[in-house]
Parts: sequence; C-alpha cells; structure tokens
Amino acid sequence: MIGRSVSRIRRNAEKKTSWVTFRPGRDRRSARGHRPISAADSARRAARKLGRRRHAPPPREHRFRRTCDSQTGAWSHVPFLTTDHIPIIELPDIVLESARLLDPTGFEDLGPNGLQVSGAFEVRRIVTGVSAQVELFERAAELDAQLVLVHHGLFWNFHPPGLDRRRLERLRVLLEHDLSLLAYHLPLDAHPEIGNNALLAKALGCESHEPFGLYRERAIGRLGRFPEVEGIGVGELVERVSAATGGRTPLLQGAGPDRVRTIGIVSGSAADSLDEAIERGCDAFLTGEPREHVMADAREAGIHFLAAGHYATETHGIRALGERLAERFGIEHVFVDLPNPV
Ligand SMILES: [Zn+2]
Repeated sequence: MIGRSVSRIRRNAEKKTSWVTFRPGRDRRSARGHRPISAADSARRAARKLGRRRHAPPPREHRFRRTCDSQTGAWSHVPFLTTDHIPIIELPDIVLESARLLDPTGFEDLGPNGLQVSGAFEVRRIVTGVSAQVELFERAAELDAQLVLVHHGLFWNFHPPGLDRRRLERLRVLLEHDLSLLAYHLPLDAHPEIGNNALLAKALGCESHEPFGLYRERAIGRLGRFPEVEGIGVGELVERVSAATGGRTPLLQGAGPDRVRTIGIVSGSAADSLDEAIERGCDAFLTGEPREHVMADAREAGIHFLAAGHYATETHGIRALGERLAERFGIEHVFVDLPNPV
C-alpha cells in the first residue's frame, strides 16, 4: 500500500497538480524529493496561504514620500496619495501618534487606554464620540469610518470580568463593520492642551491654567485664572459655562464671592475634587456631576459649585484629539454628538 501511494504521489507531482495536504509532524516527507518537511516550510506555506486570503499591504516605504519644505529646507514624510487622493494611513501609525500625544503611562486608570478593538488596517476616516455604545458604532459604520475614538471605552475595572450580552453586542457591531476602537480616559482629561479641562478653561476665557484635581496622585484637571483684574460676575460665569457645554444652564450651588477670579475644573464625575478647590482658594469649582453633600460643603466654604453634566463637560477633548490626528495624517474626522442629560 505504501509503495503504491508513493508512486501515485509522484505521478501527480509530474502532472503538477496540487493534490495532497501535508500535516506537519505527521507526514514526514514531501512529494517531490522525499525531502522532510521542516518547520520553516510549514511557516512559508502558511504565510503563502495567508497572503492569498488577505490583501497584503504594500511595503511601508511606498506609503510615504519625502518632501522638502521650500521655505525652511526641512525634510518631512507625507502620506502617499492614492489615485482618488485619499491618503492611505495605517492603524498602527494612528495608535502610536495618539499614544505619543497623550502619554498614557503613569495613569492609574479605571480601564485600558489605547487600542481596545483592532479592525481595518487602513484608516481613511475617524469618528469620535464620548462613550462607546452601539449607536455610536452604527453611526460610524454609516459614515464609512474605519476607526472610532472615544473617551469612555468598552472595558472598565468596575465591571465584572468577562463579556456580558451588552458588551458582546457592542463588540459584534464593531467586528461586523471592521471598526477599530481606540479609547483614552484620564490622559484625555489631563492633557494640558487638548485635554477636556484645558479646553474648558480656554472656552471659559481663562488666560492661564495650571495642573489641578489630583486623582491617584496625578493631576487630571486644571485651575484656571480669568484675565479680568476684578474677576467676572457669577451670572457671566454661568453664561460662559453654558456656552462651553452645549447651551444647557449648569446647576449652581454654594456661596462664593461676587467676582470670580479663579476656577478649579475637573470634567466628568469629580465632585470630590471640591475639597482641593477649597484648599487652593478657588472662587469656583466646575465638574460634570453633582453630589448631595456638595451644597452644604460649598456654602460653608464660600465657593461656587457648578455641575454642567458629565457628558457635556467631556466632548471637547475627544473632538480635539480627532481633529489633531486628522490634521496630522490628512484624513477625515467626524464628531458624533449623542447628548446625555447626565
Ligand atoms: Zn467621564
């Protein structure tokens, strides 16, 4: 039996047909030269199969071209343009650039920062949104995006481990549309330029801001100073907060001074940072969500407490990150607003 099957193998080999599947480790001989199949052979064969199944990306050097700035003489790499002039940008480039911008190392966060779900390799359009949810992912798919960037990702360490049906459904939508998910939480609150709190300080008209709002020994907020020597009135402050957070009137509590010169800002759910604002002598403190005890605390400490909404105080950072990445790589960015009254 063995002799007959080997001669049949030889005959088939001469006819150059592909006829037999080798199982490395079990079929010790190759058909043509009775050569034992090495691990390298199996790896090459697997790579060839993979290459046939998936479109292999062109080499990296083909994706960028070097250009020389005529003014400064500086060399830079710009994305290679396809025939329809949409740059081909690879997902790892965007992930690396966002990590370089936000530097998530050293934050003791409540969930993983960075790439949470890996989808399409090439990215032409980014969608940003505040929180990972099915509606956001479906809107991203409709917009023909390849990457979704969020402030609140899919995974939190206060959730039970494993995937429940709700998170599986979110993953299903991402996978079905080959969408990647990139999430940045505390690093995006804390960033001194494109962070939620720095951008809120700027939107309120602060002339300068410094680190504030310690969370696990890292400052995630900003302490802003208004340029007006005599400060701004409380009515004016409420109007500016409303304009910076989507138009809704914020909840105002406490009993601060008539003129506000300094404001502590920590977006989201950070009512506990009121104590730090009091210690540092702020005239006002702004966060997203209130707590029952802050009314009495703020009154007794002589400070204004403003709660403008968790969602509403956290749209600036993710939007700015999307814009920054789109500008850097010459691709498109769409912010999808899904307002939340909380
Ligand atoms: Zn938040």
